[in-house]
Amino acid sequence: MIDYIIIGVGLGGIAFCEQLEENNKSYIVFDDNSQQSSNVAGGMYNPVTLKRFTGVWRSQEQLAMLTPYYKKLENKLSIKIDYKTPVLRRFVSVEEQNMWFEASDKPLLQPFLSDKLIKNTNPNIDAPLGFGEVLGTGRVDTDLLQLSYINYLKENDNLVQERFNYDELVVNDDYVAYRDIKAKHIIFCEGFGLSKNKYFNYLPLVGTKGELLDIEVEDLELDFILKSGVFIIPLGGNKFKVGATNKWKDKTNTPTQESKEELEEGLQKFLKSTYKIVDHLAGVRPTVTDRRPLIGTHPQYERLHILNGLGSRGVMISPYAAKKLFDSIEKNIPLEKEMDIVRYKKKYPTKYVGKKDI
Ligand SMILES: Cc1cc2nc3c(=O)[nH]c(=O)nc-3n(C[C@H](O)[C@H](O)[C@H](O)COP(=O)(O)OP(=O)(O)OC[C@H]3O[C@@H](n4cnc5c(N)ncnc54)[C@H](O)[C@@H]3O)c2cc1C
Repeated sequence: MIDYIIIGVGLGGIAFCEQLEENNKSYIVFDDNSQQSSNVAGGMYNPVTLKRFTGVWRSQEQLAMLTPYYKKLENKLSIKIDYKTPVLRRFVSVEEQNMWFEASDKPLLQPFLSDKLIKNTNPNIDAPLGFGEVLGTGRVDTDLLQLSYINYLKENDNLVQERFNYDELVVNDDYVAYRDIKAKHIIFCEGFGLSKNKYFNYLPLVGTKGELLDIEVEDLELDFILKSGVFIIPLGGNKFKVGATNKWKDKTNTPTQESKEELEEGLQKFLKSTYKIVDHLAGVRPTVTDRRPLIGTHPQYERLHILNGLGSRGVMISPYAAKKLFDSIEKNIPLEKEMDIVRYKKKYPTKYVGKKDI
């Protein structure tokens, strides 16, 4: 009997594995590489929404955990993934500038929005109205993190690289069984793959497809992330990431011509240099209607748990959400109502209530 089975080695699964390692629990992870969100992500973390200049849910608590969490992973995996980089929001109108300075005066946003107008000095960027700077921001190389974590799990014989088949899961009162594995708990961290999970797919995971371009620009020196209609993230040398689109109908991981054009149009609004597209990536963000994570225990089976709904902010939320879930399972500490899946209990089909077999 092991302690945990985990389904999915994206940002959510990795954060939960880290909780287990810290607490000396045994586990095995399944992943079939069916979802791409964590490996295509821009990897930015910033505590403010840059459209409306409002604070992000629980940002102070999440940022406090972020640096030590990614530092620990860097040391453990011998990689560099956390790049502290300022985010500069390009202003497109005087009204926007005014909104920014109004927002920077609010007590909750003061620590994160600089009240200085930054003038553009970069000859290859068009930004006549300047920028506002967000503080406490950066980028995590999520692709390298996921790759390195997969290798780490493989080296320790903790990873099965195949699809988890929900029909083969046997749920008992005291443990779950999957083929020859018995575990005290199972945690589902499948990102948008949740839609195929018959135990939890009553939850309103919407899924928002996003696409990005990897580009090379010869003469662009940028030591910050520039956010306009699209963002451009410096990756080192002449390499940059441009993203990201939001689409709600298409739920595939296939890049499209339409989104490529949309991204290029956004980029050309401020980039004066010529560039070369070297890659085009797509994934589905696990977004939820109320923009809060989906964390908690199944309404009927107390050995089944979920860590999902990280939306477009998995880098910041995952360590926070994983700790909360672990504490609720192992220490009986109640989850915050806003993230607990109990808020959707009315959506759980009543025909299953009281029945063991779904
Ligand atoms: C274009 C784009 C840009 C983004 N930019 C940012 C950003 O700048 N900052 C930020 O914080 N977030 C960003 N995100 C969001 C971020 O990527 C997500 O919040 C995060 O990756 C979700 O992690 P997850 O572990 O929940 O899901 P996923 O990364 O989707 O991982 C789920 C894993 O479960 C596996 N799986 C699913 N079903 C099964 C099964 N049945 N059997 C076995 N394995 C299974 C999948 O293969 C996958 O590896 C972006 C996302 C996209 C698409």
